[in-house]
Amino acid sequence: MKALVYTGPNQLVFRDEPSPEPQSGELLVRVEAVGICGSDMHAYHGFDARRPPPLILGHEAAGRIVGGQRNAERVTINPLVVDPACPYAVEGRWHLSPTRQIISMPPRPGAFAELVRIPERNVVPIPDSLPIEHAALAEPIAVAWHAVRIGLEKLHRPLASARVVVLGGGAIGLACALVARRFGAGEIMVAETNPLRRRTLDAEPGIGVYTPGDTAEPAESSIDLVLDAVGADATRAAACRIVRPGGVIVHIGLLPGTEGLDIRKITLQEITLSGSYCYTPTDFTDTVGALVAGRLGALAWTEERALSEGDDAFRALDSGATAAAKIVLRT
Ligand SMILES: [Zn+2]
Repeated sequence: MKALVYTGPNQLVFRDEPSPEPQSGELLVRVEAVGICGSDMHAYHGFDARRPPPLILGHEAAGRIVGGQRNAERVTINPLVVDPACPYAVEGRWHLSPTRQIISMPPRPGAFAELVRIPERNVVPIPDSLPIEHAALAEPIAVAWHAVRIGLEKLHRPLASARVVVLGGGAIGLACALVARRFGAGEIMVAETNPLRRRTLDAEPGIGVYTPGDTAEPAESSIDLVLDAVGADATRAAACRIVRPGGVIVHIGLLPGTEGLDIRKITLQEITLSGSYCYTPTDFTDTVGALVAGRLGALAWTEERALSEGDDAFRALDSGATAAAKIVLRT
């Protein structure tokens, strides 16, 4: 099969690779669309010791089952592979399993390839009505779905009367805003410094945008739920500044650094601070359901490119030469 192989820092080669051989309980999926994630970019730069070259990256994939009784069935892939007997899986929090695997991290090759192997329990069927490039968005949107759901569970007022701020308007931040809109949030604003991304956000009905530091920035202690999709010192500080007494901060971003939290305010004003990582299988299937039902907007913020030109796509994303929040590679 052909695959886009990460061969060293800032190097991707489209070449022939051995086809994966499904093991017991696994299926082979012919990948038709696969998104480029921030974590793929991180690995491409050589910053992820867990993803050493040579390696096939990519974990946001959708396509068709090859062979067996379900041959040609259209599916999207939940890339988190967890032993169902793990105590965390038993309590429904599969993503916290210490033995979890994800495709694109050894020992599991990723989906920037024509074929990928995956346990059968990890595929979610999709109807013909869902475009395959939208099906490939299920994974990143599930990350946002999980984060918004954690926020909702900890809010002390109905979401319809809540003010929600998302810090960062990349793919995950944008998806958080779309999911908060889907759940009926009263007011949604996204903080974003990049003008190209602000334009994408501006096109979404019901979602406001502001530049951090400008006059549209929310007043201190005025926001019920803050979703930090950046995870930097500055965004943690901003989240603590704008959250209201008794409000909720959900921390999703993974930039380096640990500063910015106002522990005194968190204590004195009973702010709930929660991390959010990946998604449960239920979050994933609920996200697919919302995609199929068209409840997450027009999804016009993606750009399609050929997998064979994946190298160029990484360079375009890296240099900020594309306005798209997400590039989806097509085989
Ligand atoms: Zn991802």
